[in-house]
Amino acid sequence: MRNINRLISGYNFNPGSVSRIKYIVIHYVGGLSGAQANCKYFAGGNRNASAHYFVDHNGEIWQCVEDANIAWHCGAKSYKHGECRNANSIGIELCVKKRNTASQGATDKDWYFEDATVEAAAELTRYLMDKYGVPADHVIRHYDVTGKICPNPYVYNTTVHTWDEFKRLISGGAASAGSAEKKLYRVRKRWEDAAGQLGAFESLENAKKACIAGYNVYDWNGKAVYSAFAGNEQQTAAGGAESVIWAFLTGKGLNAYAAAGLMGNLFAESGLKADNLQNSFNTRLEMTDAEYTAAVDSGSYTNFVRDSAGYGLAQWTYYSRKQALYDYAKAAGASIGGLNMQLAFLWQELQGYKGVISALMAATSVRAASDAVLTGYEKPADQSEAVKQRRAAYGQEYYDRYAGAGAGGNTEQGKTEAAQVPFKVKVDITDLRIRTGAGTDFEKTGKYTGVGVFTIVEVKAGEGSAAGWGLLKAYEENKDGWVSLDYCTRL
Ligand SMILES: [Zn+2]
Repeated sequence: MRNINRLISGYNFNPGSVSRIKYIVIHYVGGLSGAQANCKYFAGGNRNASAHYFVDHNGEIWQCVEDANIAWHCGAKSYKHGECRNANSIGIELCVKKRNTASQGATDKDWYFEDATVEAAAELTRYLMDKYGVPADHVIRHYDVTGKICPNPYVYNTTVHTWDEFKRLISGGAASAGSAEKKLYRVRKRWEDAAGQLGAFESLENAKKACIAGYNVYDWNGKAVYSAFAGNEQQTAAGGAESVIWAFLTGKGLNAYAAAGLMGNLFAESGLKADNLQNSFNTRLEMTDAEYTAAVDSGSYTNFVRDSAGYGLAQWTYYSRKQALYDYAKAAGASIGGLNMQLAFLWQELQGYKGVISALMAATSVRAASDAVLTGYEKPADQSEAVKQRRAAYGQEYYDRYAGAGAGGNTEQGKTEAAQVPFKVKVDITDLRIRTGAGTDFEKTGKYTGVGVFTIVEVKAGEGSAAGWGLLKAYEENKDGWVSLDYCTRL
């Protein structure tokens, strides 16, 4: 049995003894944060709920309530199940991921479990079954107790990890999680559109080759890992946007706290989706994010500036800001939903918020950076302590993921930058100039990259490019071939 981390809560349980344990109830956390963060949250005060265990995306296990004591995980006004209650059960919460994080609805069909989470949860469940003599048919879902859609992926069973699989895993046999189904990359328009699938591939590279404009490559969990969009800017699937944004912000000189704090706010605004249209306008305008974006790009929708709809990474809403975004996109020849264009625009716009920029540059914590962005730049109607905490918590996840535990601001930034090159970029325009130095103040070589994929071996800030200048590998020796990264998409 793997290690069980303990952070035992002083709140939200009733005393009991292990002889009470007759059932094990499986849940999902219904949000994107990890096991330790959940455990900390529930141990941190009266939350009117609790669970015994949290299983992380990476398989780490955190315990919050002692097995003997009664946690508050499946209580309800009325029950489907005749016998299982908080008083005679142990509750295990599984951390969960989502394909489209812009909405986190309880009945959304795109929540999914990582392999590591399922493996660890099955291991923990078997361990507890053995320890307390709980038979497999007494391992049930929250759904079976009260009818709540929990754990969502095990109620809808649309991903590779199904409730049947989990029951197999805990009922003996050596099958490991995920082995029941072959791990293939599938090329589809939407994951739900299995009938329109262009192909399924064992190799991601081959799947990418088969992926044409308008289609995505999905992994076996149904998570989009690559997207091919029509138009002149290659877009990145939501999962990939995260690392692009991190690299952009740290490349601008923000330390890890500042980059994470800013990203947490962008996540709260848009789920890091550059083509995100404010949800209420999806309904009002009867357009998906992609349809709205395409209509603005093509000019068939003319009310972008004045429609008061939040749009893009920062959910730009006010007409003057949307006008500026629109003008910036047109000048760049980019889609209004282009990630790189929006990042460059965001960065330019932020320069007008001197207080926010100086707070970011001086940030010594994610919270400080996040608060500065929330109160000085995003300025939503609700700037309560709860909102501040939530946004900072989103930011902390990026910090943990990209800066790692114990990494300080400046040292980490150096590390990030060092790790950035070389990287590949895709150029979709035919006339991207190559200059002899990093900036429009350097001479043109008279050459163009043409459309294709190129390797960048060094990045420098310079005149005339918000995203910086990249040194092409072919010019590495004399360092005399630079292109504006505003017009490149990092792969
Ligand atoms: Zn539940």
